[in-house]
Amino acid sequence: MKRSWIKLYIEILDDPKMGRLQDWLWRRAIELFLLAGENGNDGLLQPVMDLAWRLRVSETELFQGLTKLEEAGLVYRQGERWMMLSQSKLLFAKYLERREQWSLVRKVLAAVVFLRDGKVCVNCGATEDLTIDHIIAITNGGTDDLRNLQVLCRACNSSKGAN
Ligand SMILES: [Zn+2]
Repeated sequence: MKRSWIKLYIEILDDPKMGRLQDWLWRRAIELFLLAGENGNDGLLQPVMDLAWRLRVSETELFQGLTKLEEAGLVYRQGERWMMLSQSKLLFAKYLERREQWSLVRKVLAAVVFLRDGKVCVNCGATEDLTIDHIIAITNGGTDDLRNLQVLCRACNSSKGAN
């Protein structure tokens, strides 16, 4: 199973619901965002017993936190389970939306690069197992600008990464 994760947006700093939380609750809210992210995309949290175990706190302490977060409008009870709400759902929706848009943009960009460079590795001429390579890696400050994209076969792409 692919491990999911969430992305926090800067808006969270200006959100009064989050901003007014005490430090320990802020931390708990972030932990719960992460765990909700691990559990799926709808914000449903794992059973309290499992949450307490993961966070190394007692169930009582966790329950106190959840109750306070409920007052702040960040979670709500659903039977025995808890759901992350509003802020978290908003963040999730935003994240999922961006991710979807992003995968569409990627597909279009890839098609354009293949049209431009041909379906052939610009390094060794291979015509199979092709990938779109960032000439300057995103992690090194590269962008998705077409000038920074090229067709490489998987072998050339990974040997490039090894350098
Ligand atoms: Zn190649």
